Amino acid sequence: MSNAINLGKIFGIQFRLHYSWFIIFVLITVSLSWQYFPIVYPDWSRPIYWVIGVVTSLLFFASVVAHELAHSLVARINDIPVKSITLFIFGGIARITREATRAGAELKMAAAGPACSLVIGGLFFLLHILIRNANESISAMAFWLAYINVMLAVFNMIPGFPLDGGRVFRSFLWRVTGNYKRSTRIATRVGQGVGYLFIVGGILIMFLLREWFSGLWLVFIGWFLGNAASASYRQAQWREALQGFTAAQVMNRDCPVIPPDITVNWLVQGYVLTSGHHFFLVADEGELKGILTLHNIKSVPQQNWDVAQVKEIMTPVEKLKVAHLDQDALSILEQMDENDINQMPVASEGRVIGLISRDSLIRFLRTRSELGM
Ligand SMILES: [Zn+2]
Repeated sequence: MSNAINLGKIFGIQFRLHYSWFIIFVLITVSLSWQYFPIVYPDWSRPIYWVIGVVTSLLFFASVVAHELAHSLVARINDIPVKSITLFIFGGIARITREATRAGAELKMAAAGPACSLVIGGLFFLLHILIRNANESISAMAFWLAYINVMLAVFNMIPGFPLDGGRVFRSFLWRVTGNYKRSTRIATRVGQGVGYLFIVGGILIMFLLREWFSGLWLVFIGWFLGNAASASYRQAQWREALQGFTAAQVMNRDCPVIPPDITVNWLVQGYVLTSGHHFFLVADEGELKGILTLHNIKSVPQQNWDVAQVKEIMTPVEKLKVAHLDQDALSILEQMDENDINQMPVASEGRVIGLISRDSLIRFLRTRSELGM
């Protein structure tokens, strides 16, 4: 999610624009200005097609923002904090730092987006009717926006997780079975199934109807939905497994300290190969300067290992996020996701006493499951 531009805050929620959004913006504008409006309304002038096309695309974008905002505000009312929303090619993804703990809250939060889109669609339709005889171009724009908002609501209500409809479906299962884990598993499986259906449908449309573009588009959406479903399932498993653990329980205490001015070659020969350690704290007379992982070492070509020093390739302390000893493990994972980092040192009373990495979290969970815990 780092490939995004910050747009600023609305109601304290950070909005970001993923680069892929520009592709869809151009596609929509071009298909409206070049195809849809000229075919349906043949007697406008060229510039009008483009002005109306661009304004329509921007209003569509505003509709997507409103949809996401509806989710977020309802989430907030139910005490589920929303940090940021990233708008990308198929709509938006809200970064909700905590999942709903009650089925009712989840249901309201999930349904708010499509409900908002339906209301916006209705309002645009009303506008279309009201000014139909006064201004054809604005009325045409309102009609398309009414249609697309209803489509947005319908698409999002497909019952495959992590679409809104999948969340509604999960909250329904959750209420009926009382089992969050099983409900998530079923909803994500349905999400993957929906993804496959889109792919198969897309391929059929391509080869039977020779509608290459529509077919490819469906395959693309299907692939995206399937991936999103699998990713949400993995994430849900992680969340559940890490629930209730603190940094102190999952961190790696066994982190050797190395001086900043030794060469990489020295480090590899003297520490890495013999000790098998993958992480090192770099400190000078007790003061933490940074951390070093195998990943840092691999970033230097082997012929330079004799000259490159540890302090040149380490991740410096200014760039590190530090976890507290009693911070819960789940929030540390979320912080790593948010900042796109793979490890965090753990500090207590100003001193680094351990390190948490994605690898060490995976090892922790795997060992527990091997022990049948
Ligand atoms: Zn939604």
